[in-house]
Amino acid sequence: MARTYNISLLPGDGIGKEISSEANKIIEWISKKSCDFDISLHEEEVGGASIDKYGTPLSDETLERIKKSDAIILGAVGGPKWEGMDFEKRPERGLLKIRKELDLFANLRPAIVFDPLIHSSSLKPEIIKDLDILIIRELTGGIYFGEPRGIKKIGENEFKGYNTLVYTSNEIERIAKVAFETAMTRSKKLCSVDKANVLESTELWRNIMIETSKQYPDVELSHMYVDNASMQLVRNPKQFDVIVTTNMFGDILSDCASMLTGSLGMLPSASIGISSDGKKKAMYEPVHGSAPDISGKGIANPLAMILSIGMMFKYSFDNQSIYELINSAVKSVLDKGYRTQDIFSNDKIMLSTEEMGNKVLEEIKQ
Ligand code: NAD
Repeated sequence: MARTYNISLLPGDGIGKEISSEANKIIEWISKKSCDFDISLHEEEVGGASIDKYGTPLSDETLERIKKSDAIILGAVGGPKWEGMDFEKRPERGLLKIRKELDLFANLRPAIVFDPLIHSSSLKPEIIKDLDILIIRELTGGIYFGEPRGIKKIGENEFKGYNTLVYTSNEIERIAKVAFETAMTRSKKLCSVDKANVLESTELWRNIMIETSKQYPDVELSHMYVDNASMQLVRNPKQFDVIVTTNMFGDILSDCASMLTGSLGMLPSASIGISSDGKKKAMYEPVHGSAPDISGKGIANPLAMILSIGMMFKYSFDNQSIYELINSAVKSVLDKGYRTQDIFSNDKIMLSTEEMGNKVLEEIKQ
């Protein structure tokens, strides 16, 4: 009997809803065609959409349901409508809560340059041609979660804002393992990015990376300070293969890497954790946000979202062939000259979000 994959789809806000519709189409078609599995897709609210409906960025009921699913797909959260709200009630807290509650500690962010987009990047073609790097960002620790945090009044007209950068050795060890294991499946080169010269928590990070490397003698481990890494990513990105780094450094470096690929709209991601019963938990989402500046216009690029679905098949369902099918469908569409506005150039054919989703689906069908 075919097994059923239960997938929670959380469109969220802004362009999250638009790109999720395109994802939905592709998943439904794959499910209909497959003899090996069925997909049961449940749509849920998160972020601003959930605040408007339930008064909270992620309701307990939604959290319980998505915890039971085999994989989660998320569009994006946030937008100006909710910006003035109390910090704990903002849309982004819904997303952070999912990551924390499901312990999705390893965020895999590939930056792959598709040949037809080589001229969409602001960098010279020879710098980025054939680029294929993977940034592994620690996702549930570090300064985004560290305590104490807050804004305190410390004088008549003076305030103090503070956050804490904390890492425990366990948190570093488990992300190090994911990074070394991943490097073993690629070119066996791993660069760990830290700021060990000034931050003790990342000195511990570096020490544990070195300690873990003893279990992986085939992997060539290097270290780089984050300020240098940001410069090197733009100067000579092909020197890297797998990068592993902390939550905040990974957030910043992966947005920088997105511009190597031409647009934020091209970057998929997977956030992976292992639950206490040894089961893999994972959420797939584009790296970009809800893009309020283009929301509702039908011009968002859905490819990061579609590529994230490919990652879901690879990492959650061990289905390399559907992963490759989706990637090659995206490549074919780009080869044929179809572009959304963010990657458009004058000799190409401009498509809306929906038209781009349809083109990828047509390629998959072929
Ligand atoms: P953003 O990623 O939403 O947008 C940055 C720029 O990239 C914008 O000019 C936008 O138009 C463009 N862009 C992003 N995705 C695109 C796509 N698919 N196609 C074409 N262009 C695209 O970042 P921002 O403007 O800093 O943040 C907007 C909101 O999104 C904020 O509320 C922020 O908190 C939230 N956010 C959410 C996530 C998430 O849900 N994972 C991530 C980042 C930001």
